[in-house]
Amino acid sequence: MWLNQLPTLVNLSLWDATSNRNVRCVCGAVGTDAHIFSGACPRIRGLKTALHNAVGHIIRQTLVKRNMVSWSFVSESDTHAPEWLAGVDWKEKIPFVSEEEPDGRVRRVQHYKPDLIVADCLSPQRSVVYLVDFTFVRDDLIREAECHKIVIYQSMCEVIIQALGPGDHVVEVVPVAVGRSGVPPPEWANVCQKLKMLGSPMSIWDKVMTCLMQQNMHMFKCWQKHNGLA
Ligand SMILES: [Zn+2]
Repeated sequence: MWLNQLPTLVNLSLWDATSNRNVRCVCGAVGTDAHIFSGACPRIRGLKTALHNAVGHIIRQTLVKRNMVSWSFVSESDTHAPEWLAGVDWKEKIPFVSEEEPDGRVRRVQHYKPDLIVADCLSPQRSVVYLVDFTFVRDDLIREAECHKIVIYQSMCEVIIQALGPGDHVVEVVPVAVGRSGVPPPEWANVCQKLKMLGSPMSIWDKVMTCLMQQNMHMFKCWQKHNGLA
């Protein structure tokens, strides 16, 4: 568990208990490893998004690789569901919900933008659609984070099923919750198979993990700089 062994403000004070060190980050919060890597620290918040996008890019590459395409439709990152899939004015059918931000503010949001949407429209009566969303969480919260993703995108699944019309359609949320220190989701091999990822689950995970480690290190170094520690 190398992340919680880094010289955070809290660790530095634990390691030298006589020094009476300040354990508060420049932003005012307690400087734990969780404060840094959860993206809660406003000074480095953008880096959490960068990590998310970098991993998203790796996963998308396993679905569309040179001239091999696993699905008849793979969304671009950061785009919405197309109307031919979700129907006209579909966004209006997704309810607003209240959610608490890491800093305690409550925000009203509509969950209609998963990280990736893949679809195979095999026939008018049979479409397979997966809403893929990834997140980085404390290693012991992987399962909980997966359940959360399934719940928040449920309304979007229902809107798509309705738009597809009668038939034997599969519309599901595929959550990819990654432990902060690189722990893979328990069902990683199944996720790879379900999404028809090109490459072995091991080799894909290797890439995800390398990216995660690099981004984590970058986050930590930037955070150190903001706190005058490097
Ligand atoms: Zn901070």
